[in-house]
Amino acid sequence: MYTEAFSDTDVAESDLVTRRGTFRAIAFWADGHEHMALVYGSARGREEVLVRMHSECLTGDILGAMRCECGEQLNSALDAIVREGSGVLVYLRGHEGRGIGLVAKVRTHVLQDELGLDTVDSATELGLPVDTRDYAPAAKVLRHLRVRSVRLLSNNPDKFEALEAHGIPVVARVPLVMPANPHNIGYLTAKRDRLGHDLPQVEVFSDSH
Ligand SMILES: [Zn+2]
Repeated sequence: MYTEAFSDTDVAESDLVTRRGTFRAIAFWADGHEHMALVYGSARGREEVLVRMHSECLTGDILGAMRCECGEQLNSALDAIVREGSGVLVYLRGHEGRGIGLVAKVRTHVLQDELGLDTVDSATELGLPVDTRDYAPAAKVLRHLRVRSVRLLSNNPDKFEALEAHGIPVVARVPLVMPANPHNIGYLTAKRDRLGHDLPQVEVFSDSH
């Protein structure tokens, strides 16, 4: 029932020395996109591996945008994996704006800035789905790595269920809570109240401002 193994032409692997240390970088094709898994330490063939499935966010991850917390979560997840001594970060492409793409995501920003719509309503106002992300590529590479079960770095219960539905057992969810700021508080509040994310920092920010 699960996706089959990679063919040789769809995957390549090398060392990748980063500021945090040396990872194994596994580039792979799945579902029409090129993704990457970064493996730190001896995660292969293990149980209860610390895993982050990170959805691509060009504005947050690369440009340091503060309207979402994606870039901070990416850094924090890599730090957590290195601190633990092993783990896997799967960087999933094609996930911009929860799957609507970069141009559409920026269109939702216009509606957020000009009409005050939140991250959910600004997508539906444009006739776009709220979340079309598919985690099958992450499950496929975790299976390729023979990861037997994971502790998932996420605040999103849906990710937990999605990975399990793709046949990867999730034994725990590890929070990845970034401090709220005036630029992302609206976004975080909508994620908490409308998408069911577990975000205790929203309360703290509201109380202190
Ligand atoms: Zn983002």
